[in-house]
Amino acid sequence: MKIILEDIESTGVEINTGRSFSFEGGKFESVSFAGRIFPVGDGKSEFYLDGKISAKAVMPCDRCLEEVILELAGDVSVRILRGAGTDLPEELALEDEDASAYIIDGDELDTDEITEAEALLLLPMKVTCSKPCGSELIKDENEEIVKEGDPRWDALNKLKNN
Ligand SMILES: [Zn+2]
Repeated sequence: MKIILEDIESTGVEINTGRSFSFEGGKFESVSFAGRIFPVGDGKSEFYLDGKISAKAVMPCDRCLEEVILELAGDVSVRILRGAGTDLPEELALEDEDASAYIIDGDELDTDEITEAEALLLLPMKVTCSKPCGSELIKDENEEIVKEGDPRWDALNKLKNN
């Protein structure tokens, strides 16, 4: 969804957007953002975006690479600063390092870009299956095989059971 920054009225513009996209190491099957963007001050160079994000992501398990589905949700409240660094008033340019601010070049805000960036922030560093898997599971399976498959244990088990 594209928004012309100049067209944002003081009451704000409602944003409802959904998409899916891949990232390095997984994909978002769905990401939806519902919120509002408001102008700050004279509404020419600074805006405030506020809303909620909900997403469904698929990432490989860190141990066995099996796909794990993640349901994610989070609040978004970020500042949108307009213009290339040189065009910004000094006090705004200083805030380039503000992690919760986005600098937009030009007149148009692409809400998809922000939705993607904010969705990525919700991801955990790594995910693992809820059940034992990978090297843990291989260890368990080997133990099972020894217990069930080795005939030498049969005699022992019979003794134990008697
Ligand atoms: Zn796993």
